[in-house]
Amino acid sequence: MLDGSFIGGASYAGSSGEMIEIIDPANFSVVASCALASASDVDHAVHVARAAFTDWSRAAPGERASALNALASRMAARSEEYVAVETSQTGKPLRLSREFDVPGSIDNVSFFAGASRNLEGKASAEWDGVHTSLIRREPVGVVGSIAPWNYPLQMAMWKMLPAVAAGNTIVLKPAEITPLTSIMVAEDCMAAGIPAGVVNVVCGTGLVAGEALVSHPQVDMVSFTGSTPVGRRVMELATAGIKRVHLELGGKAPFVVFDDADLDAAIQGAAAGALINSGQDCTAATRAYVQRPLYQAFCDGVADLFAAITVGNPLDDSTDIGPLISKRQQERVSGFVERARAQGAQILTGGSIGTGDLAGGAYYLPTIVTGVEQDWEIVQQELFGPVLVVLPFDSDDEGIALANDSVFGLAASAWTRDIFRGLRAQREIKAGCVWINDHIPIVSEMPHGGFGQSGFGKDMSTYSFDEYTQIKHVSMDITGESRKPWHRTIFSEKG
Ligand code: NAD
Repeated sequence: MLDGSFIGGASYAGSSGEMIEIIDPANFSVVASCALASASDVDHAVHVARAAFTDWSRAAPGERASALNALASRMAARSEEYVAVETSQTGKPLRLSREFDVPGSIDNVSFFAGASRNLEGKASAEWDGVHTSLIRREPVGVVGSIAPWNYPLQMAMWKMLPAVAAGNTIVLKPAEITPLTSIMVAEDCMAAGIPAGVVNVVCGTGLVAGEALVSHPQVDMVSFTGSTPVGRRVMELATAGIKRVHLELGGKAPFVVFDDADLDAAIQGAAAGALINSGQDCTAATRAYVQRPLYQAFCDGVADLFAAITVGNPLDDSTDIGPLISKRQQERVSGFVERARAQGAQILTGGSIGTGDLAGGAYYLPTIVTGVEQDWEIVQQELFGPVLVVLPFDSDDEGIALANDSVFGLAASAWTRDIFRGLRAQREIKAGCVWINDHIPIVSEMPHGGFGQSGFGKDMSTYSFDEYTQIKHVSMDITGESRKPWHRTIFSEKG
């Protein structure tokens, strides 16, 4: 049994008396049992973060950088433990945890250790000739961060690192079903010398702990990654306190294949881009639009690859994709596919939950859906599973228009060997990230964040400092005169 929360440098059992079982979705076994935080536990965490703010915000950037470098080393030393725990609470294959989630998170820590020493502003100058102006980039204060379950460790790091590197303190609420690696990070922050109270974690439900955190008057900024409907609620709650809000929300990434594309590359890219993390990825390829001459060959090729994917035990090295996060998510995905089937869609491969050896977990088979219309829910709504819909298009204009026909705008890709088509696509597709001839790769140095109902603000990269710092203009008189030149507007020429 775990305390569930980590506040002020120590585990914290909390006061609700309620527990949550953390379930391995590969076999529905109980991995751990955590105490759930109440609203008063959140209040305690926020006060602790507030108390830690002054010292941490004034720590020299080099001091913050060396603590973050120590955190990177500490996490690297425990990386296999992180891999095992991340896999057990999500069901993602060990291979994915080992090659993506954990090293990606550690790389992020290293990046922000360096970036914390490079906060930039406009050059100082005497813009009006008689004052020296300088720009200070100051931390916002206490950040309430809320993370989802799909990449629990990476999302916790994306929320925590730019905030803490810029001198803020945080209270992080991971998804209540996947809190374990966030708690490990909080422990490692202490071991790395990040002062108690700078990083606090509360394990609690969205309705209780999440809403208490977002609404707390001592929380200066809310940083949320999760679904669009919950993001809307978070924004409403933050409005009362005029809090700064950063929202990383849902996605429904288009994957546009022009008729000159390298077909094999597009097929491989679609399978990898749609199935990563069992499709539970906000940037996953979900809507493939394929120009008519390649349409059939693309469908056949992706269907062959989907059918060859090994769905299975996450602990097995030969497994390509594991289960979905929960029975509930399995039902959600299945519901979308069944409703599309009832509307007349064709299911080229998959289209069912796992059977046989897979029946004991939240498995769903890689699925291709065709014969759909652009306005169907399976094309327009995020279902967050291993399901790719494929639609044909004729003209380039139509392909781009279909890609943009979505309330979301998180990520997209275009596949072509024609430089001008590629340039057009990167300019005209409305998304926070457009890949050309690939789909999914991310790097710590580049921003991640959406357009439209995918939210606003950036994670990763130095652009994230725009969210987690506020700009102060300092203006200093350099004349030393009592009667300043601009006083003329008040005093006229009177002595
Ligand atoms: P979710 O919105 O259900 O939950 C996200 C977090 O919000 C959880 O911690 C949850 O407990 C909390 N929450 C729920 N209700 C709340 C409330 N009323 N007030 C405050 N907090 C509340 O999302 P999920 O199902 O955990 O994750 C999947 C979603 O996350 C997908 O929509 C996916 O696209 C999105 N996502 C987006 C990004 C991105 O960078 N844009 C990255 C990963 C996941």
